[in-house]
Amino acid sequence: MPLRFFNTYSRKLEEFRPCDPDKRKIDIYTCGPTVYSRAHIGNFRAYIFEDLLQRHLEARGFKVHRVMNITDVDDKTIRGTHEAKVPLQKFTQQFKDAFFEDAEKLRIKRADAYPAATDQRYIDRMISMIGALISKGLAYQADDKSVYFRINKFPDYGKLAHFDLTELRSTGRVKHDEYDKEHIGDFALWKAWDEEDGDVKWDSPWGPGRPGWHIECSAMATALLGDQIDIHCGGVDNIFPHHEAEIAQSEGVTGKRFVRYWLHCAHLLVDGQKMSKSLGNFYTIPDVLAKGYTGREIRYALIRVNYRDPLNFTWSGMEEARQSLQRVDEWRERLQSVIRTKSGTRGERMESDAFEQALDDDLNISEGLGFLFSSITETNTAIEQGKLNAGTAQSWLDWWHRINQTLDLEPKEKSISADVFVSGGLTLKGELSPVKLEIKGGPLPPEVQELVEQRAQARLAKDFRKSDKLRDKLNALGWEARDTKDGQKITRRAGA
Ligand code: AMP
Ligand code: ZN
Repeated sequence: MPLRFFNTYSRKLEEFRPCDPDKRKIDIYTCGPTVYSRAHIGNFRAYIFEDLLQRHLEARGFKVHRVMNITDVDDKTIRGTHEAKVPLQKFTQQFKDAFFEDAEKLRIKRADAYPAATDQRYIDRMISMIGALISKGLAYQADDKSVYFRINKFPDYGKLAHFDLTELRSTGRVKHDEYDKEHIGDFALWKAWDEEDGDVKWDSPWGPGRPGWHIECSAMATALLGDQIDIHCGGVDNIFPHHEAEIAQSEGVTGKRFVRYWLHCAHLLVDGQKMSKSLGNFYTIPDVLAKGYTGREIRYALIRVNYRDPLNFTWSGMEEARQSLQRVDEWRERLQSVIRTKSGTRGERMESDAFEQALDDDLNISEGLGFLFSSITETNTAIEQGKLNAGTAQSWLDWWHRINQTLDLEPKEKSISADVFVSGGLTLKGELSPVKLEIKGGPLPPEVQELVEQRAQARLAKDFRKSDKLRDKLNALGWEARDTKDGQKITRRAGA
């Protein structure tokens, strides 16, 4: 089956044909974070889907060049900088840093460029694009001194969102400052400075002000990737007005088709509602890490559902992610042990590309993972029956390493384990004496050691309820406690 994607523009699954099929080089533009606060895991669902897209294209032999913008000026960043009473640059820098830190935790490949909207190079380009749109009659300066795009002059406006322009007229309430516009749907290209903006302003032929959000992306995308881009991504909430406006602005200036394939991921939901800052129903990556989950567990939880299907975030979903990865880890360990202990160099080659074929079909990851887990079941059965020789085990392991280039789910840190020998506890008189722990391995962090000691006390006192609660606490910190006849065996889960 050829590689195909669902194109939001046509609302159809289309065979993927890049702008330049001979070079096998693909340009991708992805809308990045607005850095007015820390991104939440809903945002990261979009970035993980884009990461999967890039890695699969690379697995299929394409060279991907990806640009992700950083929106570091808009209404929210301006509000934030005033509230925090620090310059805009300083205010946004902390959230840029946090974004890269979180993206690294989730093993998201770095883009080739992260242009920032406030970079003077791009501000200049935004101004020159707006000038070109005015000279073509596609934009105008209104009485409020802002410059707007004239949507009535762009016949294709609404094609991406499958939107009828007349619908825009019937939306009822019109805000005061929108009386200046010719059409309620005209959107701002340049926002004239007002007092609330403080010192956030740039000079332009239309007076001081700042760019609108949409023109930022058009300018940065065409500056770094040229007039025509293979793939443009974002979440479904970006379709209208943001991406619709990007098409109108870019094509309005260049006269060429801006993007060949528009790919949008469905939302991450909480109790059926979009996870968002405004609803306050969000978790950040540090929030989930603080519950004891690792970056790769979050990565798995966000990657495992097909990108066009909504994904409901739950803690039981996180638990399932943990168990699925444990299954993969154990399977790999079993294969390694077969390689160490069994003979037979000539094994069956694992040549199937069923995983890649599933992803060719609009990134059907759930089918790809289904194939992985049924393969695990099959090989585990063969191992139990003693029917898997070393060569075949090696071949499965090579296959895993191949698909893991796309999944990136293998633990990167070795697990730490410590044996805790316990003495002391209940005396003959039924009193509790201090518990002495002898720890071999480790070292254990102090908070873990404390819980382990309390747990040893609880077990000696036969308070198993308390002991189980303490085990849960250890679990939440990323440690597992197993009871042996000599004491507890404490292991830190791998792959933080
Ligand atoms: P923003 O910082 O709001 O501009 O969003 C950055 C990216 O995250 C955009 O591509 C959004 O479409 C996407 N996004 C925002 N919320 C969610 C969500 N709950 N689920 C999936 N993607 C989201
Ligand atoms: Zn954008």
